[in-house]
Amino acid sequence: MKKVLIIEDIHQSGIKLLENNKNFSFEIVNNIEKNFLKNKIKDFDAITLKTFKFDNELIESAKNLKIISRHGVGYDNVDIESAKKKNITIAITSKANASTVAEHVFFMMLNLSKGGNMYDKLVKEGKFEKKHSLNLTKELWNKKILIVGFGRIGKNLLKKCVGFEMNIYVYDPYIEKNTVEQMGAKKIENIEEIINQIDYVSIHSPLTKETKNMFNSKMFNKMKKNSILINTSRGGVVNENDLNEALNKNIIFGAGLDVFEKEPPDKNNPLLKNNKVILSPHVSTFTDECIERMGIETIQNIIDFFDQRLEKSNIIN
Ligand code: NAD
Repeated sequence: MKKVLIIEDIHQSGIKLLENNKNFSFEIVNNIEKNFLKNKIKDFDAITLKTFKFDNELIESAKNLKIISRHGVGYDNVDIESAKKKNITIAITSKANASTVAEHVFFMMLNLSKGGNMYDKLVKEGKFEKKHSLNLTKELWNKKILIVGFGRIGKNLLKKCVGFEMNIYVYDPYIEKNTVEQMGAKKIENIEEIINQIDYVSIHSPLTKETKNMFNSKMFNKMKKNSILINTSRGGVVNENDLNEALNKNIIFGAGLDVFEKEPPDKNNPLLKNNKVILSPHVSTFTDECIERMGIETIQNIIDFFDQRLEKSNIIN
């Protein structure tokens, strides 16, 4: 019987898959402390992992571990090199969340474009008649969007942008031009050449040496005055101080951030007081439906791994 440690509880539908499978036993731990986990983890064959940092020390202690099943698609909280050395497979929930994150992008693009917060405040303050004193809002129709990173989420976002009849551009040096064109978008080789024509930018690349600070003052200075930047990928791709300055100086129109350089952001982060930005606390996948799908896929990955039928697209090493 394989032993599974669930680090931070997951959706009941995922747990049920283990309850109904006689080949597995499981234990759930919440309120985790590293030393406790170092001791605990020794006997387990598999773990599920949300955001807890699973470093080299924990991997060394996990003598029996064969698979780390991430509840999500990012894996920057796992020491991949150490996992590789120990021949531990890292799995992700590749099918569960692309559409959900892409919807969150639309929530932010629409809220910023349609003055969602501004109108809500006006009506609630009893100032209905003052509507003509406010700035007019914006349409997405016929606007140019640049999708940075054309993986699972970038591709899903494209489909939603097609529905809104937007003109779609893609920047992803690792994706073939044909793949982008077949989906009805234009592939861009150099962002800086096109950025002065773009109305919306949505970031869906990982945080790497190449993407760190990709959106900084230099880039903002080239962007359209009316443009809107959305980041639901990883903090650090956008330089927050530079963004705050670009918003305050009306260099760009607005921004939506679900992810931050530091999470949670410091209380004195100036973006927290900037009403040209809409913020959410790293919750692009936090829908009823997506959390259930992620819970199921996280556990199914473990079951499939031991049945030797885990799909390649769910394995990252
Ligand atoms: P993915 O691996 O399917 O796609 C990432 C894409 O980025 C790939 O196509 C890759 O070629 C591209 N890329 C790599 N380097 C690049 C560069 N320098 N410039 C442009 N593109 C580059 O990943 P995904 O599932 O689409 O997720 C995208 C990002 O969103 C990841 O960083 C992930 O961690 C993050 N994410 C955040 C949330 C959230 O809750 N906010 C949820 C899911 C995923």
